[in-house]
Amino acid sequence: MQIRRASFPANSSQPPCPFDHEDLPCLHQHGHYTRFSQPEGSGESRIPRFLCKFTGKTVSILPDQFLPYRPINLPVVQAHFDQLADATQDPDPEPCRVKRGCLIRAWKRFISTERKLSLIDFFGQRLPRTNSPQDLWNAMRHAAGHLSQILLELAVHGKSLLGDYRCLKQN
Ligand SMILES: [Zn+2]
Repeated sequence: MQIRRASFPANSSQPPCPFDHEDLPCLHQHGHYTRFSQPEGSGESRIPRFLCKFTGKTVSILPDQFLPYRPINLPVVQAHFDQLADATQDPDPEPCRVKRGCLIRAWKRFISTERKLSLIDFFGQRLPRTNSPQDLWNAMRHAAGHLSQILLELAVHGKSLLGDYRCLKQN
């Protein structure tokens, strides 16, 4: 399972067990893996991993600047989506071809019917009725704030911005 770093206190080096053993010392460090923080394959980051001794399941801690499975950083995605959702400005052209491709795919995914239904379902009453993906993005930002906060809220329910991934769920 994957949890976001900001989902547990910054001064704690170890998360509470996400498999409902909060009060028991069940998590042990279990190595790490590396991920690139940039789509062109730079900025290697260590992703720490823990093992729950009761379930045998691993818990990895995703640094807050990462989206699950997407090699593109939160501030870049947020800035790009903000620009796309703001009718008064055209997005700045992204100079890096690889990064540009990632951003295009991210937005394409966001505007898919599946994501729209999942996100509207999650935010429910907190969102006004929205017709366009631009309205949906603006409403989510208004309701939850920064993308990091949006992702934290979604992760509690096993969801993310661009997918409802198995790795975010307890089972
Ligand atoms: Zn546990």
